[in-house]
Amino acid sequence: MSDDDATPMTTLDEALAGLPAYDPDDMTVELARTIIARTAQPVAAIEQIAVRSALGRVLGRDVISPLDVPAFENAAMDGYAFAGTALAAGGKVRLRVAGRSFAGRPFDGVAGSGECVRIMTGALLPAGCDTVIPQEQVQREGDTEIVTFAADAVTPGRHVRHIGEDLATGQPALLSGKRLRPAALGLLASLGIAEVPVRRRIRVAFFSTGDELRSVGEPLVPGNLYDSNRYTLYGMLQRLGVEILDLGVVRDDPQAIEDTLRTACREADAVITSGGVSVGEADYTREMMTRLGNVVFWKMAMRPGRPFAFGELESDGHRALLFGLPGNPAAVMASFYHLVRDGLFVLMGAEPQATPRLPVPTTTAIAKRPGRTEFLRGILAADAQGRWQVTVADAQSAGILRTMSEANCFVTLDTARGNVAAGELVDVIVFDGLV
Ligand code: AMP
Ligand code: MG
Repeated sequence: MSDDDATPMTTLDEALAGLPAYDPDDMTVELARTIIARTAQPVAAIEQIAVRSALGRVLGRDVISPLDVPAFENAAMDGYAFAGTALAAGGKVRLRVAGRSFAGRPFDGVAGSGECVRIMTGALLPAGCDTVIPQEQVQREGDTEIVTFAADAVTPGRHVRHIGEDLATGQPALLSGKRLRPAALGLLASLGIAEVPVRRRIRVAFFSTGDELRSVGEPLVPGNLYDSNRYTLYGMLQRLGVEILDLGVVRDDPQAIEDTLRTACREADAVITSGGVSVGEADYTREMMTRLGNVVFWKMAMRPGRPFAFGELESDGHRALLFGLPGNPAAVMASFYHLVRDGLFVLMGAEPQATPRLPVPTTTAIAKRPGRTEFLRGILAADAQGRWQVTVADAQSAGILRTMSEANCFVTLDTARGNVAAGELVDVIVFDGLV
């Protein structure tokens, strides 16, 4: 799939050109991510949709504020409004309450000299007033309409929100490339905006390869197992808000895989396969994927997720990015989150954002050899004193989905890192931060 008006694609060859020499059999996570981000091109089409439908979508153009926010001077506290700049310094101030200004029900008079107005947070600052004193700082003289306070308690201009102080008319409120989260929906509503321009949804096709795989609902015979990768991929893609095309399980047959890749390339912006890229299987996959486009096969210096293919497919004039993931279920998830996800964000037109990594102590020692990045499944929890720490899950094999499901974060150990002692700080990437 591709947009008619799409910008010309950077080819994989262009993305690879100019890079320092690297070993495709020992590919670093950082370099792979750079190549993927350079090759992926944002989809061009933009559509105008209702703000609530835009949750999770990517803004296609800057949104310029049509209003001043706030649109009028108002109180930042419950209290009394008056002319603060006119007060003499020192001593006690005595003011008569001339009226009330509530949010949505302003005082329509003018506070004159010696007067103030009872005011609530968000209410229009009455004419003649420039300052608010919080109600806790004043005394009321009996049941009268007189309030008193120390002049020293007042800073002229305090506790007033000024016109346009959050956002002035004509200023960009949200920038193109922003992924719209709940706060952005609220901000758009605060500007009176009902619809926004967003990039079209990207379409991602995926399928599993393997003669041993059966789909849920089919009987298992010895040597078979259920295909779980299409379910984890479904879940991860669904949460990114992309359109999904599930092409099922494809047998380890070059023709069947080629046919499915061609369909995927016609129908989708990106294709994700799982299985068939490891040593022993890679040969025919490689030959066939190479026939369909420009695909590189890497052995990643990463665990889990060593075999990985990336490239561009072309079929009948349609183009799509290809991500060839390993077959092992935990490797699929690690590869998706750390290699594929950011590439899909680029396709979606999203402004790149570093995934937050937070340092916490580990309760467990971790054996690690330098030379590869490891993404261990971790369980982040607070100890009895409320201090957050991470425990590495008991089984880290690339085939084990159970610990992936028990974990709530990746413990991320960079290439250079060696063995880690209990109590040392390690970086975690929290699953809930990965959308
Ligand atoms: P492969 O990369 O095809 O050699 O697969 C590596 C391992 O992952 C093998 O044990 C496969 O049976 C397993 N595997 C491959 N695809 C899937 C899948 N879709 N669901 C569950 N396990 C899989
Ligand atoms: Mg296989």
